[in-house]
Amino acid sequence: MPTNAPDDLPKTSPPEARIATSFATVVNRLETPVWVFDIDRSRVVEANAAALAVWRAESLEALTARDLASDMSISVRERLRQYQADFERSDARFSEIWTLYPEGQPTTLRVVFSGHRLPDGRMAMLCEALAQIHETPEWLRSTEALLHTPVMISLYDGDGVPLYRNRAARNAVLREGEIFGDHFADAGDREAFLRRLDSDGHAEMVTRVSTPDGARWHEVSARACSDAVDGRPARLVSEIDVTARKIAEDQIRFLAHHDLLTGLPNRTLLQSEVERRLAAAEAAGERLALLFIDLDRFKTINDSLGHLHGDRLLVEVARRLNRSVRKDDFVARLGGDEFLVCLALGRHGRRCEAVARRILAELDAPITVGGRRLVVSASIGMCSFPEDGRDLDTLMRHADLAMYAAKDQGRSRVLPFDAALKAEVEAQLELEASLLRAFERDEFELFYQPRLSISDGRIIGAEALLRWHHPTRGLILPGAFIPHAEKTGLIDRIGTEVIHEAALRQKAWAEAGHDITVSINLSARQFRDPRLADNIVAIVAETGCEPRRMQIEITESTLVGDDRVTTETLRTLTELGFSIAIDDFGTGYSNLATIQNHPIDTLKIDRSFIATLETRPALAELIIGMCHLLGLRTIAEGVETEEQLAWLEARNCHEYQGYLFSPAIPTDAFEQLLELQRDRLAGQGMAEGGGPSPLWDLIPLVKRPDDVEWDRPEPGSAKVRRLGLRTGFGHGFNPRR
Ligand code: C2E
Ligand code: MG
Ligand code: MG
Repeated sequence: MPTNAPDDLPKTSPPEARIATSFATVVNRLETPVWVFDIDRSRVVEANAAALAVWRAESLEALTARDLASDMSISVRERLRQYQADFERSDARFSEIWTLYPEGQPTTLRVVFSGHRLPDGRMAMLCEALAQIHETPEWLRSTEALLHTPVMISLYDGDGVPLYRNRAARNAVLREGEIFGDHFADAGDREAFLRRLDSDGHAEMVTRVSTPDGARWHEVSARACSDAVDGRPARLVSEIDVTARKIAEDQIRFLAHHDLLTGLPNRTLLQSEVERRLAAAEAAGERLALLFIDLDRFKTINDSLGHLHGDRLLVEVARRLNRSVRKDDFVARLGGDEFLVCLALGRHGRRCEAVARRILAELDAPITVGGRRLVVSASIGMCSFPEDGRDLDTLMRHADLAMYAAKDQGRSRVLPFDAALKAEVEAQLELEASLLRAFERDEFELFYQPRLSISDGRIIGAEALLRWHHPTRGLILPGAFIPHAEKTGLIDRIGTEVIHEAALRQKAWAEAGHDITVSINLSARQFRDPRLADNIVAIVAETGCEPRRMQIEITESTLVGDDRVTTETLRTLTELGFSIAIDDFGTGYSNLATIQNHPIDTLKIDRSFIATLETRPALAELIIGMCHLLGLRTIAEGVETEEQLAWLEARNCHEYQGYLFSPAIPTDAFEQLLELQRDRLAGQGMAEGGGPSPLWDLIPLVKRPDDVEWDRPEPGSAKVRRLGLRTGFGHGFNPRR
């Protein structure tokens, strides 16, 4: 806009230029302040005389030289950008109350803005100040506040047609004329909101609305009011954008209800979801099934491969579980390696067996983690609603019991719940609970079974065997409780006590002048405990026992699988001086290589081979021969007859133990045996070769009917019973000499 007077124009100007110039003169004479604002450069580029007055500028040059960016707030800058975009899109015009600060003096004007393209093609803004506003400070401030607030405020008439929107609200609608209802992205929410607003006169809701930035979450609140201009019914709506909060809340809710590793629903969600499904099934007269799934030997995998690989495995298992069920079934992770599936069976559906089998089949395919192909199997317990329980708690318990039984029956199987199972498992659980009580009440005792040298018939060792004095059931043998102690983990504490007690005994006997090797049984499970070696080192230090007179009996299963912890522990123990014996040899899966790779000293031939010596002596013969070749000591277990002993002697087997000489007996009885053996040896000298055993008359001393095990024979064990019926211990003892 030229500022020079029309008279300055050259006389030769073409007619169009003259028209433009005279129009510019008109604009310059207007009383309405008009100026063009270059949004990109934050400068006024054209202004008429009235505008110069508003801006308190002496000339256009002085005004255009002003950089207005310096005192422009971020929100004003953003708003100008928004306008620029709007002008590019359409012929938009806005009317707003603006406060300018020329030379620092606030001047409030009602300004109409519209797009104006500059000669270089950029979009600028034509501003027409319609009136200077001389209102009260409150009014001015509230207008400013309304303009700058991020809260979206709109006024709609009774039909939802917009009457007013502040800047924030204007930015959040798709079209200027958009009616209130169209703002909602969710039709259901819209209906509910409008209904509530109509009936209550106000409504609040967090809902998704359509904005130029896509769907956003707004907290919308509206109340009925009257239009201040014409008094007709209107609705005042305020909105704030809560998208960020909503996403965070949704995430928190998801995290609270899902397992982070697998993304499956967790126990919390399971509770509400399955309860909801139960109620729905009940109402519809339909059936549901719960499958309780527990991976087999997951702990071993986790311990040997590391948790990272264990985690990967669980993620893959979760994926396969999802793949095995239908969309409307429900899969959750209960924690660890336990999963639960809830199947919708409809009225008569029977597909749970099939689904359980599909799950086992899915798991059959090897899973590759950390470069290793693993085959995992699972044990699945199954129960149905309403037959096996009507509430979640009962159903979960029953499915769990069935799973527990499936594991006991040899893993990788599916077992449905039934009442007999319940009784059986409850008895087991009861036993496990009473084991802990027994431990706390000191109801366990170590008995010792003499180990004898076959060549001279002397007691040279003692195997420590655990006994449980049950307050009502009497003496319980380890076969009936060790597996449960292993399952509950109590074996680690019991084991420590056993080692401690046996170590004290060895020390006491050595101090009393008896050269006796004490052997202790340790199960494979105990060997997997990485603290075992340290425990034993501490016990040796504390008791002062002599490890060279102590032996650890392990089974072949301890060696199979080549567990790192086991190998380490064995090494530490042999370095300490302990010797290692393989117990029940011949019943497991070890091979010569496994035996040679470990510091094994002794093999104990399983008593089943001794019991069948008469009919099938081949295996015992083979084992003894092998021991001679490998330089191992051989012990025969379960020797019950003279014939067996003679057979062993003929083959140079080193040691034996068995009812022929003595069962496991209490400590004091064992000590009396030792004392008498010593007296006898001192008095008579040790009989070499033939002649009566020096222990011949010791035997009745250990006959303590309440303690020795054959007085409470296990049902069906004919041998034990037969021995128990004998008149005295002496009859069992070595009459051959
Ligand atoms: P094992 O180590 O093979 O112990 C030998 C078992 O054979 C003992 O049974 C013993 O009483 C029995 N026995 C000994 N001589 C004869 C015989 O002539 N005929 C017959 N029929 N049996 C005989 P027990 O005491 O019931 O122990 C069973 C198993 O329990 C033991 O087998 C051992 O594996 C385990 N065990 C015992 N005490 C402990 C312990 O403190 N810790 C661990 N982890 N296991 C133990
Ligand atoms: Mg043993
Ligand atoms: Mg044995």
